[in-house]
Amino acid sequence: MAARDDSGRAGAGDARDLLDLVHDSIFVRDRAGCIRSWNAASETLYGWTREQAIGRRVNDLLPLRRAERDAARDAQAIETGRWEGRLVRTAADGRTLTIEARWSVRRDAAGEVIEIIETGRDVTERREIEEALHRSEYRYRNLFQAMAAAFWEIDFAPIGSMLRELRASGVTDFAAHFAAHPDYVRAMIRAARVIDVNEQGVALFGRGDKPELLRDLAPFWPDESLPVFAASVLAAIGRKPNYVTETPLRTLDGRIFDALFTAAFPPESIAKGTLLIGVIDVSDRTAAEADLRHSETRYRTLFHHMPVALLQLDMRGLFVRIAALQAAGADVAAMLEGDAAFLDEILQLVAVDEVNQAALKLFGVTAPADLYGPIAPAWQVRPDTIRRSLLARLRGEIGYVEETKIATRDGRVVDVLYNIAFPPLLTDLGINVVTFMDLTDRVEAQAALQRVQADFARAARIATLGELTASIAHEVNQPLAAIATNGEAGLRWLSRPEPDIEEVRQLNARMVADARRAADIIKRIRGIATPSAPTRAELSVNALVEEASLFLAHELQAQGVALRLDLAPALPPVRGDRTQLQQVLVNLMVNAMQAMAGTRSARRAITVRSRAADDGVAIEIEDSGPGFAPEHLGSLFASFFTTKPDGMGIGLSICRSIIDDHGGRIAAANAPGGGALFSFTLSATGSP
Ligand code: ADP
Repeated sequence: MAARDDSGRAGAGDARDLLDLVHDSIFVRDRAGCIRSWNAASETLYGWTREQAIGRRVNDLLPLRRAERDAARDAQAIETGRWEGRLVRTAADGRTLTIEARWSVRRDAAGEVIEIIETGRDVTERREIEEALHRSEYRYRNLFQAMAAAFWEIDFAPIGSMLRELRASGVTDFAAHFAAHPDYVRAMIRAARVIDVNEQGVALFGRGDKPELLRDLAPFWPDESLPVFAASVLAAIGRKPNYVTETPLRTLDGRIFDALFTAAFPPESIAKGTLLIGVIDVSDRTAAEADLRHSETRYRTLFHHMPVALLQLDMRGLFVRIAALQAAGADVAAMLEGDAAFLDEILQLVAVDEVNQAALKLFGVTAPADLYGPIAPAWQVRPDTIRRSLLARLRGEIGYVEETKIATRDGRVVDVLYNIAFPPLLTDLGINVVTFMDLTDRVEAQAALQRVQADFARAARIATLGELTASIAHEVNQPLAAIATNGEAGLRWLSRPEPDIEEVRQLNARMVADARRAADIIKRIRGIATPSAPTRAELSVNALVEEASLFLAHELQAQGVALRLDLAPALPPVRGDRTQLQQVLVNLMVNAMQAMAGTRSARRAITVRSRAADDGVAIEIEDSGPGFAPEHLGSLFASFFTTKPDGMGIGLSICRSIIDDHGGRIAAANAPGGGALFSFTLSATGSP
């Protein structure tokens, strides 16, 4: 500022120097708005030197915000000679400045405007603070009205005088005094006055009428909450910013509810002698919390005592990793499929953070902490299960189940049914629960059952054979007797003086045929008694039924059971194992005979029907026995289901597995006549 152009301002140099001492920006413009004088503070404020400023039009040098280019303002200033207000201008460096400006107009003797002098002060910062204040006040006002909380503004002054009197009377320990004199606390409550209350306050405490709430606090304060009032007063005296607690309060109608109570002592309020009380009705929340605690307890109990192993997994690390990968555009599914290192990383990222008793047993550890941490150790044998379960999650499925193997901590590998659920609620919390069902027992039980079934299938065949011995002997006796008779006749013809060779040849031919018949029967019996691999051949269902009836003919007769065959002609052949299918028919007919033997029913009959069905043949076996109790219908085919004292309960289960093997279906029902009705289908292809 050393070299100054003195032409800038009309008037004495000392006046100019004087202006330079002023902290406010002062400049003069002529009627046309051109700057004629520019002091040092203007240079500092706007960033333009005197040289740059003089001669320029103010509004070109210091552009106004569009909204402030107001011709009316200039007109008003000229008319009244003064103007005061705020202008938002842009400085040399582009900053936006808020200027509190004051204009005064100088006129000549004729009253013509010569120049306008502007004094300006930068209030940018102040304006920002004011705006922030304004915003927060607005927010607060809104909060006060709109928040779910009820707010009271309380006049604390009467309590203030009570306390001063108390101190004057020599009491120094207010806390002890309040505790010893509940009446004094009650008196304070009566002295306090509500000066304002928001809508929620009216709704919560009143009956819709605000004025009736503008009174002392006595109706709202149940005795059990006296200590809370005392504590609030102590907090106010102790210059604490606030005091928060939960306490019962009372409405004007006398309803007591659980409140979250906040007394706030902002300095402005204290200065005014008021305090703010916020109240939120938490009785719902209390109930909801009790519910929550209850259901949480239930969940915990369930979790810990379920007989399946449960592990709670903390998935947050993994979710964050996946989200980051997805945000970077990575194809996580493809990484899972192809990137073994990524899978290893996942096994380290997912951690167990809670386990139940069954899990300890399954994994062979004693303390839950032994299982906490990354899931990797369990999955060293079959990490692919984790890959598939994560892929399921990425596809948006809500769970995943698979039979797999896990490695236990004591070095075993266990067959398990793995099940992970991704319910949204838990997933949002980054939690997933995994269950493992130990299949070792089931796998072993299945193997054992298969062994028993195989053994029994054979035993059953032999047992059936035992029941059929009589009828077999009968069958074989016939051809043997015929052979003997024919042999004797042949001998007689040969003993004649002229042996009749032709007659003997015929008798021999009959003997050979009878011997073949006997051999055939023996072969069939051996076929039943000897275990052999199942074979598949084209079979006639009707022939199968006739053969099975032949086996049982003697037994049926002995038990006085009438057998009726109702066989459709010209049925298509089915593919199957002759011995196995005969076993099914024999089993079902023996069951029927046994069921009828237990009844005194006069009429004992078994009807076997055959007819064409979709893609094969349907066979029905109906008896006139007692049928099934309805509650047994669902379990008949289950292994070891029996109602007989010496039954094994395996016959029907074998029948079903044989028919299943043949691609057919077997079912049991009560026949309209009351007896049992078994039906099964056999297909022309003979396989499922
Ligand atoms: P088991 O004959 O050793 O009991 P099965 O598996 O052959 O075993 O039969 C299971 C059960 O099904 C029988 O105990 C019986 O209760 C019932 N059942 C089977 N066939 C008949 C039938 N024709 N009438 C009534 N009940 C039957």
